[in-house]
Amino acid sequence: MAKPDHLQFFIDPGRCIGCQACVQACTECDTHRGTSMIHLEFIERGRSVQTVPVVCMHCEQPTCAEVCPADAIKRTGDGIVQSARKPRCIACGNCVLACPFGVPEVYEDRQIMMKCDMCYDRTSVGKKPMCATVCPSQALFFGTLEQIEQLRPRSAPLNRFRFGAQTITTRVHIMIPRGDAGRGDGLDVSGALQKHPGSRAPRTSQPGTVADRAVEQDPFEEISL
Ligand code: SF4
Ligand code: SF4
Repeated sequence: MAKPDHLQFFIDPGRCIGCQACVQACTECDTHRGTSMIHLEFIERGRSVQTVPVVCMHCEQPTCAEVCPADAIKRTGDGIVQSARKPRCIACGNCVLACPFGVPEVYEDRQIMMKCDMCYDRTSVGKKPMCATVCPSQALFFGTLEQIEQLRPRSAPLNRFRFGAQTITTRVHIMIPRGDAGRGDGLDVSGALQKHPGSRAPRTSQPGTVADRAVEQDPFEEISL
């Protein structure tokens, strides 16, 4: 059965509170019991505690599948990129290196790549993926476009990302401030990574206050080892 087309997956990084509930819920999935297929990343460890959940973005043209020498990664007709097929995967790690979002992982003990498949056993019958059922702040939201627009009127979904000359369109959407959503050519990820880290540090107060200067400073600059 295919995933109902009107149901989409939205990630809202600004709402993540780092509680790890999604990671724990993922371990309980029947298809990969005990191992989480998702993880949290710190956006700027050392300057901020802000985290973001990392799930497979389900690229329309998945680079992981394109570089797989064993043709082990299949994409379903409704656009869900599956974990590697056990009989085919040779655990070479090409997909790990190729994925622009840092998603696949090779499990040495099992000699296979495993990754998030958007809980296809659940989402294909209209149920939420495990992570979205437990996220207390709805940083992971599975529902309709109308629902997310109603819930987040100041944000807009984005699913086009630019990595240098390559533009990737994904099934999963990231919520960004509505004012930044007008760019039809997608989010320039490479450009954002090249900016000075300080300019991306979240502000905790009005500019110019003592607390604000503390965020801009390197918190470790006075520590000598
Ligand atoms: S690790 Fe497995 S799925 Fe990934 S590229 Fe190699 S053979 Fe393909
Ligand atoms: S996000 Fe990575 S693992 Fe997922 S489909 Fe795209 S290239 Fe493959």
